[in-house]
Amino acid sequence: MLYGYGGHVLRVDLTSGRIVREKTDPQYMLKAIGGRGLNSLRLYDELKRDIDPLSPENMLLIGVGPLTGSLLSSAAYMTISGKSPLTGILGDSAAGGFFGPELKQAGYDQVVMTGKADKPCYLVIADDHVEIRDASHLWGLDLWAVTSGIRKELGNNAFQVAAIGPAGENLVKFATVACNNARMCGRTGMGCLFGSKNLKAVAVRGTTPVSVADPLTYLDLCRELDRRIIDHPEWDRRHAMGSTLLMKALNGIGILPTNHFQKGICEYVDKISGETLAEKYKVKNKSCFNCNIHCSRYYVTDQAEAEGPEYETLCSYTSRIGVDDIQFALRMNAFLNRMGMDSLSSGETIGWAMECFEKGLLNRDDMDGLEFTWGDKKTVEKVLNLIVRREGIGDAFAEGTRSLARRFGRDTEKYAFHVKGLDMICGDPRGIKAFGLTYAIASRGGDHLRAEPFFELTERYDEAERRWGIREIANRLSNNGKAVLVEHTERQALITDCMTMCKNIGLSMDVMDFEFASRLLTAGTGLDFSQERVDRILRGVIEADRKMNIDFGVESSMDTLPHRFTHEPLEEGPSKGEVVPVRDMVRDYYKLRGWDEEGRPK
Ligand code: SF4
Repeated sequence: MLYGYGGHVLRVDLTSGRIVREKTDPQYMLKAIGGRGLNSLRLYDELKRDIDPLSPENMLLIGVGPLTGSLLSSAAYMTISGKSPLTGILGDSAAGGFFGPELKQAGYDQVVMTGKADKPCYLVIADDHVEIRDASHLWGLDLWAVTSGIRKELGNNAFQVAAIGPAGENLVKFATVACNNARMCGRTGMGCLFGSKNLKAVAVRGTTPVSVADPLTYLDLCRELDRRIIDHPEWDRRHAMGSTLLMKALNGIGILPTNHFQKGICEYVDKISGETLAEKYKVKNKSCFNCNIHCSRYYVTDQAEAEGPEYETLCSYTSRIGVDDIQFALRMNAFLNRMGMDSLSSGETIGWAMECFEKGLLNRDDMDGLEFTWGDKKTVEKVLNLIVRREGIGDAFAEGTRSLARRFGRDTEKYAFHVKGLDMICGDPRGIKAFGLTYAIASRGGDHLRAEPFFELTERYDEAERRWGIREIANRLSNNGKAVLVEHTERQALITDCMTMCKNIGLSMDVMDFEFASRLLTAGTGLDFSQERVDRILRGVIEADRKMNIDFGVESSMDTLPHRFTHEPLEEGPSKGEVVPVRDMVRDYYKLRGWDEEGRPK
């Protein structure tokens, strides 16, 4: 018996309607573990490289891990992967909630979809019963309506639904897939990939609990992890505010993106902070499957109610574009959730337009009469509606900031803040150097979640010395040793994704090391997931991602940051005078990975 794992890989050809249930191969899992690692290796082994991401040949994978849906705290995630419609390189995005555990309890470790349905459809998975259903009547519905509509149609509210909204149907390149209305696979356009296959949703119901190989040891380990989480000094703040606690924290060190990264300090931060959201608008906490932090929040304002937002959305629709109105951001969060559109990428297109207007590089004639000025909420709302429908200038915005800036030229590309086509997150790397390196080398583009090297913010100098022999790793402004930190936390992020745990727990709270992960995997599956093997697997997946991206056209020159972050020092505050010496750090990183000077695995 295969413990931990669901036991099957489901292959669905949406063109022919052929559905095949394959047995999970334990030998393959010993190379991939699960979740993101499993998806990456499947793409590496089976995806044709030179395809258009929107063609039927692209693969659409949903992966979970051997411990997903078990007692392990926060093992609630799933990862969707494919060739990204937004970036043209490796694309993937993970979401928590309840979909991943449900898929696992239906008996599946991965769903592999190819082809394109000839009309809108949705996939129903109910344990071993799998069918493709017509979704013509659901096409056009927003995410909240489609989720409840599918549950009603299937006569069971226990179905977990991963679906797209109008943005995905209209092939907006940064469309999302939503699980349970609010847990978003937000990045790299996986919703666009659903839309390109005429796939409105996947609905899943599973009724078989996860069996583990060594229940007593596994229970002890899960309890130990629970204790570490609950005793963590940040538990209270994380429970109260989730990731929105970062608004004031990043402002305090001068790196809160304000007016499109022109400044790192926002004078009205108190009006838009996580504290304000929690005190004035939060009505209750929400949680993913089996998590003891319950960091998500449900809010009600005069204008909207919804779950969220996370920090990236709150910052994208406040300080990053010069808006001082938190109620507006909460309304936009609800809108984006319903339409299925990424807040970071959509927010960057708007920030780019505002800055280009300010610098005289764009004008109303370029933008169908729209005028972009800092904090102009009406224009923000108008353009978001145009993007969702791909109407007028919204059609160009829907391609993402890189493409939008290329279309207009005239120096506007200098202000398109993306790496490899993926719009940058809301943390100014000039004051957090390891994060800067992470954005530059992340295999899905300008992103923090591939490594999240929060250790550099801790000022735990003795601990840095003990772990890596380099005290300066604990100094956020130093680039000394940051390649060492990122090489380490990149593996930590990957093991977290392979085990489909939340990065709050597997990474940023620093409560789980590789040795602990190896014990969990071994007790859960009964397979030989020794620490050495786990390390080999993680390095293998990182190398496979890199090789795949090289096949997709990634070159060393793309492992960099936009000009502002490497050449324009921050002008005020605790990060004043800083830029990111990105090339030096990237060179160090290649060496540590054993890659050549061009960043190619040897
Ligand atoms: S910490 Fe928050 S996002 Fe992470 S699993 Fe728990 S509730 Fe979900």
